[in-house]
Amino acid sequence: MTSENAASGRDYIFAPAPVPTLPITGTTALFPVHRIYCVGRNFADHAIEMGHDPDKEPPFFFQKNPDTLVPPEDGFPYPSASSDVHHEVELVVALKSGGSDIPLENALDCVYGYAIGLDMTRRDLQAEAKKHGRPWEIAKAFEHSAPCGPIHPASQIGHPREGAIRLAVNGAARQDGDLNQMIWKVPEMISYLSRFFTLAPGDVIFAGTPAGVGAVERGDVMRARIDGLGEIAVTVL
Ligand code: MN
Repeated sequence: MTSENAASGRDYIFAPAPVPTLPITGTTALFPVHRIYCVGRNFADHAIEMGHDPDKEPPFFFQKNPDTLVPPEDGFPYPSASSDVHHEVELVVALKSGGSDIPLENALDCVYGYAIGLDMTRRDLQAEAKKHGRPWEIAKAFEHSAPCGPIHPASQIGHPREGAIRLAVNGAARQDGDLNQMIWKVPEMISYLSRFFTLAPGDVIFAGTPAGVGAVERGDVMRARIDGLGEIAVTVL
């Protein structure tokens, strides 16, 4: 017996996995992560580069596992079973409250803050999954697939609606968009998601990526910037 469930007083048969967390700027307190939701094709120019018509196919959601979040300084281990792994820089929205059927006008009240995240993707396995109409988990939800910087509280930075979102690899620009290009804005994502899931404190939303996604190799250094949120640097290991 290694540990006890505080609520029931009963023993676990082995120690439970630690709660995934994100650091917060300006405090040593941690943000405990509940779920990760990701928006697909939320920038028209990225939808087009992936072969889709954003006018006919609206954005949609998929999920990653909470323990895929890793600090940028840990680096990104090149995953197994793929030879075409892509970067996707994204605004990450961290929720402090949730609920069901959240009205659009109340949605921003749920937001604790914002961070820079990378939705690392096994593009070759995703293409195969798409071809066969299969789910995307092996392409999206693998270990270390969500490097993420610290959360900047909205109480300090507000709610970014515009500003550059960029990613460079080894100093060469790859992705260069603006948050104002998002098809679903942050309140719309929250309100829409809450029709299908009960959102909860600790949920995070990866808000989609602009055009310019591309492959990385071991040794590459990815630098991602979002205006107002600073920069993260992630080395591919
Ligand atoms: Mn993405």
